Amino acid sequence: MSAPAPVWAVVKANGYGHGAVTAARAALAGGAQGLCVALVQEGVELRAAGIDASILVLSEQPDETAATAIAHRLTSTVYSEQAVAAIAVAGGQQHPVHMKVDTGMRRVGVVVGDDVVDGEGVADAVALADLIAASPAVSLAGVFTHLAVAEEVGNDFTRVQLERLDTTLSALAKAGHHPPVVHAANSAAAILHPAARRDVTRTGIAIYGLAPSPEIAHLCTSLRPALSLHARVSFVKRVRAGEGISYGLHHVFKRDTTVATLPLGYADGVPRRFGMAGGEVLLGGVRRPVVGVVTMDQLMVDCGPSDNGDAGVSVGDHAVLIGHQGDDEINVSDWAQRLGTINYEIVCGLTSRLERRTT
Ligand SMILES: *Cc1c(COP(=O)(O)O)cnc(C)c1O
Repeated sequence: MSAPAPVWAVVKANGYGHGAVTAARAALAGGAQGLCVALVQEGVELRAAGIDASILVLSEQPDETAATAIAHRLTSTVYSEQAVAAIAVAGGQQHPVHMKVDTGMRRVGVVVGDDVVDGEGVADAVALADLIAASPAVSLAGVFTHLAVAEEVGNDFTRVQLERLDTTLSALAKAGHHPPVVHAANSAAAILHPAARRDVTRTGIAIYGLAPSPEIAHLCTSLRPALSLHARVSFVKRVRAGEGISYGLHHVFKRDTTVATLPLGYADGVPRRFGMAGGEVLLGGVRRPVVGVVTMDQLMVDCGPSDNGDAGVSVGDHAVLIGHQGDDEINVSDWAQRLGTINYEIVCGLTSRLERRTT
């Protein structure tokens, strides 16, 4: 999905909630040639774990972090004179930097304008490349951009952004700048727009086995989710028809039933409204609804009236919140759809309190 361009695995945000070091090691073992993080501190964590691969910090960072970035051999992203100056002040010597150009996302980067065709719009990018070339503190190791609508099939703006990138590269070449590495593709672009792959792809969500969007899920059938979420039943009890449950007692039982408690909650990344949004868990091989608001540390599951014989649930039983049990599966996209968000936000929301186990 990236070939012929190698993958630089994006392991920011604790490896999209999977555990940064585990994700980084797995990605490198699987052939990734570099890593990307959002923060200097995230790069430091990888170095502290003994990871030696090249690490790119994807945006400019506060000036006071420059010395740490240099000391840990983290490639810095720059798009302002100030960021270059901070690296010089921190004692950088040929410190590798990637210049980010904003070809339309309008988040961060040297702005490349609509008048790019006349060469006007790329003047700032060329000026910054000149400055980088003139400074012994830094060396231009790459140029990149980020795509705003890569997961939208048929949206022409991706082509517009890539064209602006190419115009920028031509202007840089004319000025004598030849960045050794050019990159543009996130997961969606790598999958949907082979023309965006360039020298490397910055692949995030796809390395975790998740599709960048439902719209291109049909192109992602070979991806296998890397993560599942499990808990063990901590308490089981009978409740009576007419009783409410959890804070606010918002959910009222229509019949006598058995309720199981699981020891995880919104402090672990299960949103408070999960049950109200129709969230379910797999328990005893059956799909069962979460009832009442999810609390900080615990949530409750309606296991049904025992006279139906399906409440045979006991303390210690294994519940699956994300993943397979028996023939059934609940995946991250199911969560995202119910909660009105995207799979990225769900996995990034899984907090450090959850014990991560590698199987
Ligand atoms: C997070 C990020 C990525 C990875 O995006 P995915 O959609 O997860 O592949 C790539 N590039 C930049 C600049 C990012 O911030």
